[in-house]
Order: sequence, then structure tokens, then C-alpha cells
Amino acid sequence: MSKFDYDLFVIGGGSGGVRAARVAGATGAKVALAEEDRYGGTCVIRGCVPKKLMVFASTYSEAFQEAAAYGWEISTGAFNWGAFHERLNSELDRLEGIYRNLLKNSGVETFDQRAKVADAHTVELADGTTKTAKHILIAVGGHPSVPDMPGAEYGITSDDIFHLEKLPETMLIVGGGYIACEFAGIMTGLGVKVCQYYRGAQVLRGFDDEARGLIADGMRDRGVDLHTGTNIIEMKLAKDHDPEMEGGTASDAAAGAEPPDGKGKWDGKRGTAGPIWVKSTNGGEMVFDQVLFATGRTPNTKDLGLEDVGVKIGRRGEIIVDEYSQTDVPSIYAIGDVTNRVNLTPVAIREGMAFVETVFNGNPTPVDHDLIPSAVFTQPEFGTVGLSEEEAREQEEIEVYATSFRPMQQAFIDEKGRVLMKLIVSKETRKVLGCHIVADHAGEMIQLAGIAVKMGATKEDFDRVCAVHPTMSEELVTMKVPVRTA
Ligand code: NDP
Repeated sequence: MSKFDYDLFVIGGGSGGVRAARVAGATGAKVALAEEDRYGGTCVIRGCVPKKLMVFASTYSEAFQEAAAYGWEISTGAFNWGAFHERLNSELDRLEGIYRNLLKNSGVETFDQRAKVADAHTVELADGTTKTAKHILIAVGGHPSVPDMPGAEYGITSDDIFHLEKLPETMLIVGGGYIACEFAGIMTGLGVKVCQYYRGAQVLRGFDDEARGLIADGMRDRGVDLHTGTNIIEMKLAKDHDPEMEGGTASDAAAGAEPPDGKGKWDGKRGTAGPIWVKSTNGGEMVFDQVLFATGRTPNTKDLGLEDVGVKIGRRGEIIVDEYSQTDVPSIYAIGDVTNRVNLTPVAIREGMAFVETVFNGNPTPVDHDLIPSAVFTQPEFGTVGLSEEEAREQEEIEVYATSFRPMQQAFIDEKGRVLMKLIVSKETRKVLGCHIVADHAGEMIQLAGIAVKMGATKEDFDRVCAVHPTMSEELVTMKVPVRTA
């Protein structure tokens, strides 16, 4: 008989935590999991899944225009946010149900409440009860961070956007990362007039420069009013700034509002009080119906009792772990966004599985964070794996193979959007070090290109593959001459 209540107690029911709990359960381990919010976590409830459904919804506006250019006689009305939102909510309910069932069917005991660490083997639940476990796994994710600035409380974050009662007419998006650029496209496609402020010189810092440039051009072509080198310095309710303005007042806002569907977290003030006046670093003053902060995310390590038991926390609030996701306290492990390694759902899932393999199957398995393909669902879409041209040329001598062209589907109707197919190749080993695609369905393409790159394919391996014609991605195997070497 074990001296502990459980072999494993997981705190956090997102993608990583749920996967680790049920795979551990399948080994015969006695497992429990606590989740204070909805099961499925950021990805399913307020991230990847609802975001992608909004991407789908938003692309129809362009598809209708293209269909008309192709000869279809169609008449379209306005987008009905209410109808979409209702369907979105029931889909999220369905998915949450699936997550709960997966846990139940794996024999995982669940507690629908917050939990914190009391000591190396004890978890304390919000109702005051304590549970002991041989191992504790922290998989509590992160939350959006908002700049510290006067009036910031009137902005919303990606957590709030899925709860909007109605779509705003105008929106300012602050930030130039994944979330900012994805929502700039989504909102524009849904008919919102979007302005985006990014403090740096070009959006999507860290990715391949050529790809970033093409994406920014594509966003502007679709109607995003993108201002780089621009940040926001102050916000007020427009009515407080100018009493002639329509809209709510600060006291309306302070009175608070419930989330429209009664679910999720909602800061009473956010996005409910009417137009917002914004002052920016370039001296401009503008009024927007909504301001969305997409200014990064912070690990959820506050008030979890971690430091008290000796778990080391990094400068950005992340739990410090080794390659096996083990913390400084040997019985406590952490996976996913709370460790701020590579903040992507499939990575959290892999970290969870590697943890179970290490701890419950006696097979020490480090997490492989190398050559992770990913997609940014901007419009145009971006798929990427490996090194950018800029990173690769710092490392070794390279050849760059790239082509940017108007794809057949758009050229036919005289649309100006271009796509990019780009390979970064090591001069010495001939290995493809990076592959970058800007095009419709780039996310689907990069999943497949990622297999070849991960296998260590050379440029000549790519060349030996026969083209699939006529496609956009055939260019990946037909580029013969480098556009430059570095
Ligand atoms: P990112 O880190 O990608 O981007 C944050 C952006 O906000 C950057 O442009 C940053 O500027 C800017 N910023 C940060 N602080 C401030 C500030 N005080 N004032 C103004 N601008 C600021 O974070 P996101 O919130 O977009 O996304 C979080 C994470 O979620 C991503 O890193 C990614 O791992 C994950 N994600 C993945 C998706 C996918 O796979 N498709 C989709 C959505 C999210 P600067 O560049 O100058 O630092």
C-alpha cells in the first residue's frame, strides 16, 4: 500500500495536464487532477480552438468576393456575431465534455477547484482539504499580460474576446506577436475596422524577415491599418476625455458587468463601458470602440505555494525545470506554458507524455524542443520550421532558395496577394535548416515539410521529389538556383 493518497496529482486541466493525467492513469497509476476553471485550458476554451473557428468565420468575406470574381452570382449579408457566438459556445461545451470524459474513462479523479502546493507531496484544495501524492505535476498555463499604463483596465485581452456581446465597429490591437497579428486578420475579415500599433520596426519578431515583410504587406492589403514603431501611452473612456462624446462613463464601467454567458473570467470594467480615447507615442489621439491588448503572456505561478516548498521561479515568473520537466523539488514536475519554454499546445502535450514515460514507465525521456514546426494563423497564413535566414547566417554559411509569386487562384481574378516559399540550406552539409511558407493553408503544408526537415533532409533530397502540379508548394522541390548566399 502506498503511503500517499495518489501516485500523481496534476494541477491544471489544460492540454498538457489532461494528457499527462490520462496517460499516467493508463499505466495503472492512481491519478487525480484539479482544475479551477473549464477543462481544456487555454487552447480549447480561450485560445487555439475558438481562435481557429474565428479565422474560418473571418475568411468567408474574402471568399465571397473571390467567388463573385470567379463568376458566382451571390448576395451576402453582414456577419451575424450572435449566431456564430452561440454556435461557438456550444462547440466549446462539447469539447469540454470530451475532456472531462477522457479523464473519467482513464480513471482520473477530478476536483473542480483551485489547488496549491502545501509541501513536496501535499496539495491543498480551495475547500481546505489536503491530498497527498508521490508526484505532483504543475500544468497551470499562463494568462495574458497587460502593460502598466493609465487606463489599461479599459482594454480587453484574448481571454475576453470570445465573450464579446457584440462586435465593435472599430478596434485598436496593441502588439505585434502571434495573437495581435492573428486577431487583426480575424477582426478585419469579420468587418471590424482594425488599427494595430506595434512598438518595433516589423511585426512577428523572431521569425524570418522576408516572411514577416510579406505578412505585414498582406495584412495591410486586407485592410489592417498597421502602424509599426508606435505604442500606446494612455487610455481613457472617451466620455471622460471629452464630455461631448457618446458612450459610457468611468462610473458605468466601475459598476461592472457579468460575462455575457456567465462563464469564464471577466474583469468588470473591461470592454463594457463605451468608446475609448487613446494617446500614442507618435502624438496621435484616436477613439476606438475596443482596445485589445495582445502584449504577451505570463506564467500562472502566483499563489501556488511553489517558492515556499523550494520550487525555483525564473525572472518572467516561469517554473524552472530540467530536460525531464523536473523542478528543484524532486517530487514536483512542471509542463506547458507555466515553464515558458516553447508555449505551444502540442509541445505541452509532448512534455506531459515525456514526463509519464520518465516517471511512470521508468524510461527517462528528455523533451525534444528542436525543429518544432508551427503556424501563425495570420491572413496570409504563415508556416515555419527551423532557422530563419537571419539566425542561420549567424551560425554558418548558407544558401537561400526563395520564390514569391501570385498563386494561380488569385492571379486568375487579378488579386495582388503573393505567397512565399523559402528554404534555408547549409552550404556545408546541404541540410535544409529552415523552411518558411506564407500562403493559404501554410499551416497544413509546414506540418509535412516539417517531417522532412526533422529527418535531416538535404536540398538534394527535396530536389529528388517529383512536383505535385499545379500547386503552390511544388515550388519547394523545383527551386534550382539560390537567390543569395550568405
Ligand atoms: P508574443 O510574445 O508573441 O507577442 C507579444 C507582443 O506584444 C510582441 O509584439 C511584443 O513586442 C509586444 N509587447 C510586449 N509588451 C508590450 C508592451 N508593454 N507594450 C507594447 N507592446 C508590448 O505574445 P502573444 O500574446 O501574441 O502570444 C503569446 C504566446 O502564445 C506566443 O508566444 C505563442 O507561443 C502562443 N500562441 C501561439 C499561436 C500559434 O501557434 N498560432 C497563436 C497564439 C498564441 P516585442 O516584439 O517588441 O517584444
